[in-house]
Amino acid sequence: MNHLLSYIKKTLESHFPPAELKSLTKIICCDLLEISELDFYVRKDIHLSENKQKELETILHRLINHEPIQYIVGHTPFCGHSFEVNQHVLIPRPETEELVELIAKENPKAKLIFDMGTGSGCIAISLSKKLPDCEVRACDISAEALKVARRNNKRLGASVCFEKQNILKYKFPANLEEMLNLDVIVSNPPYITESEKAGMDPNVLEWEPATALFVPDDDPLLFYSCIAELGFFLLSSEGKLYFEVNQAYGKEVCEMLNDMGYSRVRLIKDMFNNKRFVKACI
Ligand code: GLN
Repeated sequence: MNHLLSYIKKTLESHFPPAELKSLTKIICCDLLEISELDFYVRKDIHLSENKQKELETILHRLINHEPIQYIVGHTPFCGHSFEVNQHVLIPRPETEELVELIAKENPKAKLIFDMGTGSGCIAISLSKKLPDCEVRACDISAEALKVARRNNKRLGASVCFEKQNILKYKFPANLEEMLNLDVIVSNPPYITESEKAGMDPNVLEWEPATALFVPDDDPLLFYSCIAELGFFLLSSEGKLYFEVNQAYGKEVCEMLNDMGYSRVRLIKDMFNNKRFVKACI
């Protein structure tokens, strides 16, 4: 094991800061190479089989290539569940868990919720698990993302109904009556402007799906305004909108919603004290 640990360290140390290297080493050994935690912690000297050695080389190569560890492992925790993730979906972030908690806490009696731009399905599926009497629907533009979301839905025993939709050209479904009277619309849409790319890490830029991340510099609120317009058709008279927002544009999103006629518009901070969520009522 000592050999193994020093080999991993030697290979990765010029690419990752020490704290990250430590947690990556544990994931590589325990989650990917299936070494027991006990053997890992007592630093038992384990010799890998030829296959495991090859697997290790592939993992190290992928990490050096900036691939996020979550894609290599193939799943990531979110709201107490393990979600399958791959390059077609954004890796669920801890901030987004707070959005789910907030919605579940404020809407315990919700009957119908719609998640727009669902990606891995993390928001919709977690809400469906927390609110078992609520019907949760979700859409995404990406057929590949929907495959992942549907697999997560099945594996986690949730009952979300998914559809392929472009939020910007939303087509009202034939069964429109079923979609009216929504209690909640939630969305964590693309919100990073092209000009913010320069400050981003390569593991996000080179690996996470660009369609899930970016909006044009000249129209950063593109998705929010579209969803808010749809809200007037789809939300019930007591309905609410919940958005995750780019902290640089929280105020603008609030102003836009106020101008459109939404009421009780609030900007809410996340655990890192960033203005991260917007809530508005019809
Ligand atoms: N709803 C998903 C999430 O919160 C995907 C968001 C996105 O692709 N913009 O992770």
